[in-house]
Amino acid sequence: MPELPEVETTCRGIAPHITGKQVTRVVVRNPNLRWPVSRRLGKELTGQTINSVSRRAKYLLLHTDAGTVILHLGMSGSLRLVKTATPAGKHDHIDIVFNKLVLRLTDPRRFGSLHWTRRPPEQHRLISALGYEPLDDDFTGDYLYQCSRGRKVAIKQFIMNSRIVVGIGNIYASEALYMAGINPQRAAGRVSLKKYQLLAEVIGEVLNDSIAQGGTSLRDFVNGHGQPGYFKLHLNVYGKTGEPCISCRIPIREIRQGQRSTFYCPKCQP
Ligand SMILES: [Zn+2]
Repeated sequence: MPELPEVETTCRGIAPHITGKQVTRVVVRNPNLRWPVSRRLGKELTGQTINSVSRRAKYLLLHTDAGTVILHLGMSGSLRLVKTATPAGKHDHIDIVFNKLVLRLTDPRRFGSLHWTRRPPEQHRLISALGYEPLDDDFTGDYLYQCSRGRKVAIKQFIMNSRIVVGIGNIYASEALYMAGINPQRAAGRVSLKKYQLLAEVIGEVLNDSIAQGGTSLRDFVNGHGQPGYFKLHLNVYGKTGEPCISCRIPIREIRQGQRSTFYCPKCQP
């Protein structure tokens, strides 16, 4: 599943190729994504110029004077740039055509989405309630500490709550808590400021490491073959049930929290 680093890499990968380019055509082969694609898309986007491409949480935003395309890659989606003559495959649902270049959305499981909004995208219902960006300067340990006072929810669920901070998926949450030495079951309101400062720092580190790794795959966005692979993370605890902790050799434990698996070291994360 594309996580925040994949979406950020996609954003950086496509931006230089489509920024300043005019949309000449929009082809919607299958509008039935997670939500139906707006019927107005083709009419309103055609003729527009992409002013910029940005990311908010796991949404990619294509900004034009008339409105904004809000794209989500869902569970299995990917975007590629291909030449106009490239035949579409079974799962290539949407093409945004720029003269000889096509931005193509492929999504076998169709959990992704594409919205068109005329209003400022930050007012869109998918985006308006989102919390802080984990890579922004204002995402700090102090912020997490302040938000968490009085909260009984487990720290892992707290950092996976997109109203607090966006884009921290299940894998990143387990890994970051391990690196910060915080027990994933601890009540968010009972984690110290010092631990939150460390946590904010390692969250930035794991995400940035992934993005840096993804940078090497940027060329995949323009070669038209296959799809950009999702990043292979170096994992310390995730999926390592029963294996010795790399630091203390105690077996990694797996528990369920909110229907998701959590992995941690009972000794290093007291
Ligand atoms: Zn350990």
